[in-house]
Amino acid sequence: MKIDPLIQSWHAEMTAVRRDIHAHPELGFEEERTSAIVADKLREYGCEVTTGIAKTGIVGTIRVGNSPNSIGLRADMDALPMEETNTFAHRSRHKGKMHGCGHDGHTTMLLTAARYLSETRKFQGTVHFIFQPAEEGPGGGRVMVEEGLFQKFPCDAVFGMHNRPSLPVGKFQIRSGPMMAGAGSFDITIKGKGTHGARPESGIDPVVVASHIVTAAQTIRSRTLSPHDPAVLSITQVHAGDAYNVIPETAVLRGTIRAFRQEVMDAQMQGLARIASQVAAAYGATAHCDIRQGYPPLVNHPEEAAFIADVAASLVGEENVNRNGALVMGSEDFSYMLNAVPGAFILTGQGGSGDHGGSCEVHNPGYDFNDEVLPLGATLFARLVEAKLGTAAS
Ligand SMILES: [Zn+2]
Ligand SMILES: [Zn+2]
Repeated sequence: MKIDPLIQSWHAEMTAVRRDIHAHPELGFEEERTSAIVADKLREYGCEVTTGIAKTGIVGTIRVGNSPNSIGLRADMDALPMEETNTFAHRSRHKGKMHGCGHDGHTTMLLTAARYLSETRKFQGTVHFIFQPAEEGPGGGRVMVEEGLFQKFPCDAVFGMHNRPSLPVGKFQIRSGPMMAGAGSFDITIKGKGTHGARPESGIDPVVVASHIVTAAQTIRSRTLSPHDPAVLSITQVHAGDAYNVIPETAVLRGTIRAFRQEVMDAQMQGLARIASQVAAAYGATAHCDIRQGYPPLVNHPEEAAFIADVAASLVGEENVNRNGALVMGSEDFSYMLNAVPGAFILTGQGGSGDHGGSCEVHNPGYDFNDEVLPLGATLFARLVEAKLGTAAS
């Protein structure tokens, strides 16, 4: 692995910063402490710093020369509302909050890239270091874009990365075009007519209506979408009734929708609304549908995906970069940034070795970011800038 020697020499410091952030997890839009650490360090490194974008979001900027070329690098800062079960010294100090997705590591790698690039300045143009809040929900990336991120900080291209426990350290995975699913969620409230459980003829049973909707909704995936379009519609909650002898007034269905193309997201949402309302009508009930689009599908731009894969291959060798990785059913709000400017998102291996193995899946209470990968991730960020804004651009 061709890790930059200067970055490598900071490994102990990086580890300390990462573990400090890990020990003090903060939920989306509450990243006050983390955000203050990021801003202080960026200032210390000599960056221009803009705070208060999407509440706790930050952009650090370094300009070299007069080139109009620019690049954005993005990390997320938020933790998850879950209890950590690890017992090591840097475990979460905050009950019910945990850096269970490795955003502590992403933040540390991007900070280190800022430190390196401000010291070495081997590029011509502008680099923006984007630290976003609330990736785990409700979408700090969306809020930053809506608040004019790319108008205030224009980027020719933007890049992000996420750790991947199932991938060994030193390997990368990416794909061109759609890579991670879009997500939606829904609440369907079926209103019937409550009555005595022994006298169904005097009511309209919302439990039976809900059951038909659950069954009919399975045909959205199987009968209305092309088998070539991966998609999921899962009804994950069914709520109705409190007594053995009461037919309730209402039943509620909730669940999630996933797809890799916006058209397929739309088709599933419209299909569900149609089936729910018309199945309910067929039984004399009504269905109120609240179906919400969440994060859109994450779609890598082909040129930028090839570019970041090339830079990754220059560090770890072509054989360690999977350019045709499998689709990922999870979602990621970096998709909003990729819908605004060209760019790409890469998965960085973090499993297999290191202090804690690094192979525990994200969102598991025993997860911890693998510090072994910190210098590699920071080097990748740094080399992206040098390759994009380097000698060719000067
Ligand atoms: Zn996560
Ligand atoms: Zn994450």
